[in-house]
Amino acid sequence: MRSNEKLTYEVNDDHHQQAQSLIEDMAMKLRCDQEWKPVTGQHCDRCGYQKYCPEKTAKPEPLPQDAREVTQVQLALGF
Ligand code: SF4
Repeated sequence: MRSNEKLTYEVNDDHHQQAQSLIEDMAMKLRCDQEWKPVTGQHCDRCGYQKYCPEKTAKPEPLPQDAREVTQVQLALGF
């Protein structure tokens, strides 16, 4: 996607298994993570959270009073 090139290749069972394992592992890590550290990059240009982000702003604004509490991440993966 970053290079704006379309890449195609044959997906075999091994590729499918690798992708599924990668996604399962990532999903478990997402569910267990309680602390999310921001990582700056080009994606910050489109982020609506910049004014609250301690990595992007020297004096970030406090989160609004009605900001939601962090709850466990809910994931729905359809395999
Ligand atoms: S501004 Fe902060 S929260 Fe937003 S994308 Fe960048 S690092 Fe992440």
